[in-house]
Amino acid sequence: MRILVIEDEPQLAGHVTRALTRRGHTVTARHDGAEGLQAALADPPDLIVLDLNLPTLDGLGVLAKLRQAASPSRVLVLTARGEVEHRVKGLKAGADDYLTKPFSIEELAARVEALGRRTAAPAASDLLKVADLHMDVQHRRVARAGKPIALSPRELDVLQVLMQEPGRVFSRTELCERVWQRDHEYDTRTVEIFITRLRKKIDAGFSTPLIQTLRSVGYTLRPPA
Ligand code: CA
Repeated sequence: MRILVIEDEPQLAGHVTRALTRRGHTVTARHDGAEGLQAALADPPDLIVLDLNLPTLDGLGVLAKLRQAASPSRVLVLTARGEVEHRVKGLKAGADDYLTKPFSIEELAARVEALGRRTAAPAASDLLKVADLHMDVQHRRVARAGKPIALSPRELDVLQVLMQEPGRVFSRTELCERVWQRDHEYDTRTVEIFITRLRKKIDAGFSTPLIQTLRSVGYTLRPPA
């Protein structure tokens, strides 16, 4: 994978760069937000490892600009320990996953691997359709009522899992497992944030909401009965 590391602590940036390079990735590093954003937009990498606390433009600012530009890069944010609010903000702003500092290189490598994998099982058909919502799986494009909708890569993964089996109810844990492939410590809050993000993009402004919540059970995608 081509990876861009945006981290202002030179020691940590160097450590991460070397470790990921040793694992076969092509890694470049930038040490402030503005330079990082410029590099990410000029030549979009597969994955961006993004520190939130950065000079010139902080990580949330970088994320906002990336999502505004419909960047195809996946984003793993680095947050400081205990800053739950930052993690939530990062996910709401469009991050695909997060890692809390301090982390081990093995932990980082595992997250990077998981983000590199195409999550959803290959679809039987390249075109998924639920009511007026369409997904071109191969080209990773989504439209509702003919209007294109820009989704982040992880938002696409979540939606693809739901669209492949319309009407099937997925628990938060199951969605988390399918999309983030965590072996333990399922973070159901992350799933909730992604569903909220998807609702804003897929359902807001339409009279028929497609994403349904079944209280204390999970989520499903289907037109209301
Ligand atoms: Ca920092």
